[in-house]
Amino acid sequence: MAKLSRRQLLGSISALAAYSPVRNVIAQTTANEPEWTGFSICDSCNHVPSCGIEFKARGNNIISIKNWEQNPRHWLCSKGLSTLQRLYNPNRLLYPMKRTNPKGSEDPGWVRISWDEAYKTIAANMMATKKKYGADSVMFYAGDPKEPRPAIYRLAKYFDSVTFATESSAACRSGCMMGEQLNFGQPNNGATPSKDTKVFLILATNVWAQPLGWWEAIKAAKQRGCKIITIDTRRTKAAEIADVHLAPHVGTDSALVAGMARVMIKEGLINKDFINRWTHGFDDYAKYVEPFTPEHTQEITGVPAQKIIEAARLWAQGPGSFTLTTQSVSHNSNGVNNTRALLLLPILMGYIDIPGGVPFNKPPKGLSMAAFGLHPAMAEKKWWNSPAVKERRLDKEALPLWHDLQDQTSPNDLPEWVRDGKIKMFCGWGFNVNIWPQPQEYAEAIKNLDFAFSADYFYRKDSHKNLDIILPAAMNYERHAPFGWYGPNIAVRKPVKPLGEAKEDWRIALELGCIVDKPEHFFNGDPEKALDFILHQYEGGDLYKFRDALPSISKIPAPKPEFRKYETGHIRADGKPGFNTLSGKLDFFSDRAAKFGYPGLPVYKPMMPLTEEFDLRFINGTRKPYITHSKTRTDQPYLMELEDGLHVHLNPVEAQKRGIKEGDTVEIRSPFGGPVEAKVVVSIIVPEGVLDAQYGWLDKQNTQTLMNRDNRDPMSGYPSYFENPVSIKKKA
Ligand code: SF4
Repeated sequence: MAKLSRRQLLGSISALAAYSPVRNVIAQTTANEPEWTGFSICDSCNHVPSCGIEFKARGNNIISIKNWEQNPRHWLCSKGLSTLQRLYNPNRLLYPMKRTNPKGSEDPGWVRISWDEAYKTIAANMMATKKKYGADSVMFYAGDPKEPRPAIYRLAKYFDSVTFATESSAACRSGCMMGEQLNFGQPNNGATPSKDTKVFLILATNVWAQPLGWWEAIKAAKQRGCKIITIDTRRTKAAEIADVHLAPHVGTDSALVAGMARVMIKEGLINKDFINRWTHGFDDYAKYVEPFTPEHTQEITGVPAQKIIEAARLWAQGPGSFTLTTQSVSHNSNGVNNTRALLLLPILMGYIDIPGGVPFNKPPKGLSMAAFGLHPAMAEKKWWNSPAVKERRLDKEALPLWHDLQDQTSPNDLPEWVRDGKIKMFCGWGFNVNIWPQPQEYAEAIKNLDFAFSADYFYRKDSHKNLDIILPAAMNYERHAPFGWYGPNIAVRKPVKPLGEAKEDWRIALELGCIVDKPEHFFNGDPEKALDFILHQYEGGDLYKFRDALPSISKIPAPKPEFRKYETGHIRADGKPGFNTLSGKLDFFSDRAAKFGYPGLPVYKPMMPLTEEFDLRFINGTRKPYITHSKTRTDQPYLMELEDGLHVHLNPVEAQKRGIKEGDTVEIRSPFGGPVEAKVVVSIIVPEGVLDAQYGWLDKQNTQTLMNRDNRDPMSGYPSYFENPVSIKKKA
């Protein structure tokens, strides 16, 4: 078994901390077989950078990994560097298993079965459930990693179930994406600053904990003289490099932007020509922001009035762009509106699709989602978006705007759907109940289904103990699918064979499709053929040729970059000038939101109040460079050496008030649950009145048990991870 030494890994991590390229991480092997070079893509975070990995192998043993230099994204971080530990973790699932004890038993009595038995049992249950309750009662779910989505989409479509949900439709970045769709008419989460960017907004994201290339690009822009405005409650590294750091109270972003917009309007800083020609609803918004004087905005947000004015004036010195890669802005009960408000800042100045501004890049035709190999022809997008099919979705009544904008079902009412008999069977890939508030309710729902299975890397008791069958999924080094996609650049893989009887997640979905439908719809179960099919949608696209070209990155045709495409009709689907909103313009007022009964303007709404007992606002889901907020990290022990359990940040003033010191063990409670145990780090990274944490820790450290399941954003259905009041006290 290949092993990395801790010294070698940490050496590379410290090299990363100094922002130099990654060095080799050498593993050891005793195998006396020929050495060869393989290529893979990292899936160890949800940032979707798909960083390229080059590895050396002897036989089927990977002995070292390093950054794949030809790949446009090759800055492996500590999480990526420790993926070999995950690959060769002795706890991996390597064989299909079925339970032999009744659901609810402490010991499910797992026994190994053949793939043949597993597939036959699953397929028989799928068909019987479909016959008895209808296809939509079979839920398909793609959790983490996100990569098998295209194959699962296809399986659900040909099975005729519209109940397809993902980790993103439960709680990820799609709440922000809705804000982008409402304002811009399409997803657009900004970009790193270009050479022409004069002012850059970092919106509520700790870019230091995001992929290294992004942080590097922002630092380089700063060195070129680009000014940085960071809007983030926390004083992260991204806040410390800012020229102006605005630290609003959690969830008050829409009020802060209203205050900034008022300054810009009053001082005549806005781009009136652009607004008149290319936007909709500005007069309504100008009226709305009128009461948000700097002083009133200070009262709501806690940001000093003078800083609000300073930031507004600085932003007007653009062109400017922004990065809104974060989930956090949308993880509260007014999340989509807070996001929409922040996204109005570039619109007010007309920094749209101009040099140095917010680019509206055109991807290669058809590709709509980074890295997953998702193409309309693969996912059968027309079917998903046809009115008759959409009409059947279970989230239509509760979340009409989400339902209108997204083709993935929101799964957050799963416990209620199971209780009401609407869902009878669950087909999961990468299923983790701990992405939900009050995860035990989701585990209970799985228990109450007629049949449930999941494909996963590891057995996770909370999520899997009530499954009927668990399938071993191959890891990133063992998969052909999907390819990495970076604009016109395509990175295909050259993998090792899966360990044990693990199979690619794409293969599992495709092989099941061959059984419950027709092999010709599922590339005879072969993920390589599926990838080749997708690449053949493009002139010159060919999986096998692209693999022969390795380590070089291959290209597919993509539109030439151009600016101001809204003038030339190159943004709208119908070829007319403008944008893909209902108004055809950039929306201050969204007719689409109003159509479904939501506020047309991105209005401010106060959060759930703090109380005397629960007097701290809880931020649940922060990032660190070695922690992706929701991922279970215990499979990569090097990461555990960097941090071995839940640590929360508490401001020194709050710590002193409570007699809490650095390193103390504390108990956290909320009106909805607890206690949760954590170690305290006393730090000014959080202001007074705030406690931050990462979710993804389990058992008595599981912060999801503190969350209010019922307090969600009514537009996205997303849980309010960044809203709940908590108390904290030193553990006796
Ligand atoms: S940022 Fe790190 S974890 Fe994410 S894909 Fe890149 S190497 Fe992997």
